[in-house]
Amino acid sequence: MSLEIKNLHARVASTGAEILRGLNLTIEKGKVHAIMGPNGSGKSTLSKVLGGHPDYEVTEGEVLLDGVNVLGMAPDERSRAGVFLAFQYPMEIPGVSNANFIRAALQARLPEGEELEATDYYARLYEKMDMLEMDRKFTARSVNEGFSGGEKKRNEILQMLMLEPKYAILDETDSGLDIDALKIVSNGVNAMRSPERGFLVITHYQRLLDYIVPDVVHVLVGGRIEHTGGKELALELEAKGYDWIKDDIAAAASA
Ligand code: ADP
Ligand code: MG
Repeated sequence: MSLEIKNLHARVASTGAEILRGLNLTIEKGKVHAIMGPNGSGKSTLSKVLGGHPDYEVTEGEVLLDGVNVLGMAPDERSRAGVFLAFQYPMEIPGVSNANFIRAALQARLPEGEELEATDYYARLYEKMDMLEMDRKFTARSVNEGFSGGEKKRNEILQMLMLEPKYAILDETDSGLDIDALKIVSNGVNAMRSPERGFLVITHYQRLLDYIVPDVVHVLVGGRIEHTGGKELALELEAKGYDWIKDDIAAAASA
């Protein structure tokens, strides 16, 4: 069982600029894969393409969720099929309370005619909020509206804890978090680690990976995975930067 990305090519729909250029990556259930890479290498584009964001067009390749092609699915279908995306820049949804938003997402997973039990729902919601040390006032507030950067990131993880996806993609969930919040959010993610679930953790900094220890680390450069290693690769990148990988690509191109 895996989320399998094969030779993925994607471009910005409005400009036609190609961002992902033949990306291959397989996230097995039970594993945490991390992606690091320079600014503008296509990390967020990859996460949004996996979520079905309309700004991007896939021109080639496949994405298989436990063998099923998800590229033809609308974003909500992908979500119900088990894909979860925590955005780098979470959107604000004025007028929709946090509690109602998550409740609607869970309700949409139930068969026709079945109603989510409110008491159980709130009990679970509060349990997860306690785990993330989120104040109860966030249930009644509009989704992300006026939240600080760190509160938005925590709120993304709350959604993940409630939806229990098969594959979770976390796009720079560490950015904007202070060290205490980073630990709390990491604990939330680690509590979800299971043989039944795969993670793709995108980060700019090695620090997050001290708390969410990955099984595999990839380097994304120019819309392709250019290097893969174990968790020690994150430390190597922190120390050496990305230039050596770019040099290797340039050397290979001129050879
Ligand atoms: P990363 O997350 O690795 O920093 P992104 O995936 O956000 O990189 O962006 C990769 C490249 O694609 C950047 O040059 C960015 O400007 C461009 N890009 C991404 N999305 C869009 C968009 N919707 N419109 C125009 N350019 C985009
Ligand atoms: Mg990004």
